[in-house]
Amino acid sequence: MSDLSFQQLQSAVVQIDRAFAIHEDWIRGLIRTFVVRLPPEAGELMPDAYRHCPFGQWYDSDAMSALHDYPAFVAVGRVHQQMHQVAARLLQRVADGLPIAAGELDEMIDLIDRLRLEIRSLRHELSEKTQNRDPLTGALDRTRLFPDLREQQALMSRRAQPCALAMIDLDHFKYINDRHGHAAGDVVLASTVQCLQALLRPYDHLYRYGGEEFVLCMPDTTLDAALGLGERLRAAVAAQRIHAGGSDSSLRITASFGVAALDPACPVEESVDRADKAMYRAKMKGRDRVEA
Ligand code: GH3
Ligand code: MG
Ligand code: MG
Repeated sequence: MSDLSFQQLQSAVVQIDRAFAIHEDWIRGLIRTFVVRLPPEAGELMPDAYRHCPFGQWYDSDAMSALHDYPAFVAVGRVHQQMHQVAARLLQRVADGLPIAAGELDEMIDLIDRLRLEIRSLRHELSEKTQNRDPLTGALDRTRLFPDLREQQALMSRRAQPCALAMIDLDHFKYINDRHGHAAGDVVLASTVQCLQALLRPYDHLYRYGGEEFVLCMPDTTLDAALGLGERLRAAVAAQRIHAGGSDSSLRITASFGVAALDPACPVEESVDRADKAMYRAKMKGRDRVEA
């Protein structure tokens, strides 16, 4: 699965809360049917009842398609289907005026509990991914940068792997704000981060370092490989046509990149500083460039 964007994660968490409430309503209705022995709805007795209940409709909806191969989401679907199969069997007993055995009811209750648990753990997993992120761009918050880089250094020495850093600074970004307004500037920032993320591997990490400055950490990457990736990222950023509302015309932006190896033998701040100096050289040489 490709990494979900910050917006997708946030919206999924909200959706899961709603779906959970819908599902709890369904359970209340089920208990009523069992206890009062109301005639069950025909749909509830069908083998594919799990697709037709409100939770199932939510589960299959386009809004959740980004999660379709996400393991915790798949687990929710599996337990939900099992639960409906047992529910259909018990509801058929109610419809036929037959008693329900205690063991069968226990099985039903276990599945209800398991589904609650699966939904909660899906929510927890997704919500954790939204922590320590910059709300505008979804890039990681800079508070995590230095601790993460120190961890990376420890990994490097254990596995004898290289790691590269890039400092990325948008070019003449102040002009975008001055010419098109701060809101347009915000759209350019968010769109550029999405553009970068689309080319990164799941284990590359992008941090918002300052206003329009980002640090990219590329584990298991040599300086040469990082220069190659930097060049692809630079080209992708420059190729964007960003629609920031207002006028019909689209905005363009470029970025300057400074690449450096993460040095396992000195404080991480020094490696970041080296990437920063390289980025500064890219600015000096005319911007929209990658320097090491
Ligand atoms: P250079 O090519 O030399 O980097 O020029 P620049 O204009 O990009 O650099 P400068 O540091 O002069 O301006 C950065 C601007 O970024 C100034 C600041 O108002 C703007 N900025 C910082 N954070 C945000 C933000 O979250 N949203 C918006 N819209 N603008 C921001
Ligand atoms: Mg700038
Ligand atoms: Mg700057």
